[in-house]
Amino acid sequence: MATGKVFLIGAGPGDVELLTLKAVKALSAADVILIDDLVNQEILQFAKPDAPVIRVGKRGGGRSTPQIFISKLMISLACEGKCVARVKGGDPLIFARTHEELKVLSEFGIEVSIVNGITAGLAAHATLGIPLTNRDYAHSIAFVTGRSRESMQPNWRALVESGSTLVIYMGMRTLNQIVERLIKAGMSPMMPAAIVQNATLLEERTLVTRLAELPKAVDQSGLDSPAVIIVGRVIEDSQAMRETTAFFSSTGRLP
Ligand code: SAH
Repeated sequence: MATGKVFLIGAGPGDVELLTLKAVKALSAADVILIDDLVNQEILQFAKPDAPVIRVGKRGGGRSTPQIFISKLMISLACEGKCVARVKGGDPLIFARTHEELKVLSEFGIEVSIVNGITAGLAAHATLGIPLTNRDYAHSIAFVTGRSRESMQPNWRALVESGSTLVIYMGMRTLNQIVERLIKAGMSPMMPAAIVQNATLLEERTLVTRLAELPKAVDQSGLDSPAVIIVGRVIEDSQAMRETTAFFSSTGRLP
């Protein structure tokens, strides 16, 4: 029976001030810290100075630490009686494969506490002052992955028909296909769309345009991952859309 425990901590989108008090408390209690790629290293200021930090990056497309290695490591540390902080970007239960870790940890009877964090999709819109809902025409929000396998695509038609504001994660590599699929599913090519790269960090970059123009605008601006793509009428009324030249990258123009 393990005597240690694991905190699964969401570190929020980047800005260290967006950490929760609970996350700070858990970090300061940890004997060892396992940290993902997208997590701002500044959070380590809240860790014990002698707590070892193990980087277990899993950035899309790049080299990654196998999930099984991370799970085994957490189990062996907890079995040694250690308090482990497993830190992920944003919220640990959104597009983070945390269920796999939870499953093995529970199989080994290890105590787990989940500390949720602000997910990137709930930080990106604030940067641009875009409300994600509108009482007249946007009654729901959909968090969508842009990285599904070909055989497991989200139901783009249902998403378009729902009128939900779409908040797309991991969509930069497949941006052209996403735009094509949305238009094919019936979305207007003139639907406003925005991208926020590195939301809440100093390197944050944004872009606001129309759906059909997104691929070209991204090409011209050089925006890249990690970024959240927001698509929906809610952008239309926003300051970001009105001042779009100010938000738009230097080379781009609104259609
Ligand atoms: N669990 C995380 C999501 C991990 S998936 C969360 O809740 O936020 C990785 C994706 O998250 C990236 O491809 C990107 O779409 C998004 N992302 C993470 N951090 C981001 C940031 N600072 N700015 C914009 N997008 C971000």
